[in-house]
Amino acid sequence: MSIILTFFYFLENNDIIFLEKLGDLMRNKYCKYCGETIPGDAVVCTHCGRQVEVLKTTSQVVLTGGLGQPKDKIVALLLCFFLGFLGVHKFYEGKVGMGVLYLFTMGLFGIGVLVDFIVLLFKPSIYYV
Ligand SMILES: [Zn+2]
Repeated sequence: MSIILTFFYFLENNDIIFLEKLGDLMRNKYCKYCGETIPGDAVVCTHCGRQVEVLKTTSQVVLTGGLGQPKDKIVALLLCFFLGFLGVHKFYEGKVGMGVLYLFTMGLFGIGVLVDFIVLLFKPSIYYV
């Protein structure tokens, strides 16, 4: 009786180990460059640092959407300060529509220029629009 119980105990535990191994196999994959085990969702190998997966379409959309035209903060600040009432900093950022609006409203009656100037102050030295 006890032998049978031990057998079942052994079988049960082996099943758990087997399932854990199976789960590891499904979670992990092997780097095609260095052969090390890396997480299944890794894009870059955690051992050699090489790219093992092509970036997913959604990531590419986010990347191109997040990184637009690089703009210099100092240039934008100077344009905003001296020529903001003409919307020149908006033209610099490529926002032609807003630029025209600023041009005819004296920079949204000065309020738009003031807000833009403050917002620009908190931007990194190179920002993207
Ligand atoms: Zn590798």
